Amino acid sequence: KNWCLSMPKVELHAHLNGSIRVSTLLELAKSLNETQKDAIDFSQVEHLITKCDLTLTEVFQLFDLIHNVITDHNTVTRITKEVIEDFASDNVVHLELRTTPKRNDSIGMNKRSYVDAVIEGLRSVSSVDVDFIPKTGDSKFLTNDKCNGNSRKRIIFRLILSIDRRETTEAAMETVKLALEMRHLGVVGIDLSGNPKTGEWTTYLPALKFAREQGLNVTLHSGEIRNSKEIKNMLEFHPQRIGHACYFEDEHWRKLKSSKIPVEICLTSNIRTFSVASIEVHHFAYLYKAKHPLVLCTDDTCVFNTTLSEEYKYAADSFGLGRWEMFELSRNAVEYIFADNGVKNDLRKYFNSVSKNME
Ligand code: 5GP
Repeated sequence: KNWCLSMPKVELHAHLNGSIRVSTLLELAKSLNETQKDAIDFSQVEHLITKCDLTLTEVFQLFDLIHNVITDHNTVTRITKEVIEDFASDNVVHLELRTTPKRNDSIGMNKRSYVDAVIEGLRSVSSVDVDFIPKTGDSKFLTNDKCNGNSRKRIIFRLILSIDRRETTEAAMETVKLALEMRHLGVVGIDLSGNPKTGEWTTYLPALKFAREQGLNVTLHSGEIRNSKEIKNMLEFHPQRIGHACYFEDEHWRKLKSSKIPVEICLTSNIRTFSVASIEVHHFAYLYKAKHPLVLCTDDTCVFNTTLSEEYKYAADSFGLGRWEMFELSRNAVEYIFADNGVKNDLRKYFNSVSKNME
């Protein structure tokens, strides 16, 4: 566990609200329950948060409960700050966090002000140095000379805005336009997520196409349930990355492999939601053997009670991979980040500089 913790890591698939600290969620749910009895069922939050295995339906029930707790700007700011601090403590050096911009008319929250509250959260992190404003040219944030001998942690942070499968075409377009307006603040892409049993992905196609035309990166949750046609169409869209890929069939694997689309793998999430029957048959092994681009991720640290180092440990133990192989896996993730060569070079140099400690 220790070397998985100390190894630098790249997190590319983490949802903000699903990564809230458990203690913060319980604290906020309890106090909401005390002030407004009908607003939330505290015992239900406690029950779901401590349950070992959750069906996908229960996972989305838990998200609804979390969203009932996180309703105002200050709380969004607080959880963003804490989530960044937690990933930095886990030695994540590059974090692409995703979140669904939300409205809450009763307190004057709109998608824009929601994302502003997220930005406020990352600005308020003081225990680690956070790089979030993309600059053109060479970045030297991690490998800056000033950093030598400096024990302060550093983390590169980028934001992906999610479209929820419950939304309309117009709402999805609003999210894409917002992402474009906020590119200078580190918004690098668009994600399609939300309950895979809900909605048709074609509803979001105009917004996803527009995002891509405008130079935003796109990642899609794909194959969380059996839906052969949707998976095929998603692969034909050719997103920059794909999340999960649990219910892929032979023709999908063929297409995925020839297209070389990187896959964001969330082991604990897939096992705990029964999306994959057991770790022994998880497609990680198949893709790893085929040298297909992949990256280990957490999905939702709170909901699945995990950390990125635990995901690395889980993969190492389950598939018999050693320290160096895990380091290479982590280092390769740099190639799949949503960033230009400036940031990638900085990360490559950083990984090179620590590689001697990993042999
Ligand atoms: P938020 O976007 O509110 O910050 O994070 C929680 C949301 O992310 C959920 O409501 C859901 O839309 C999405 N999400 C989190 N985990 C998963 C997952 O495992 N699968 C899918 N499809 N969506 C997820």
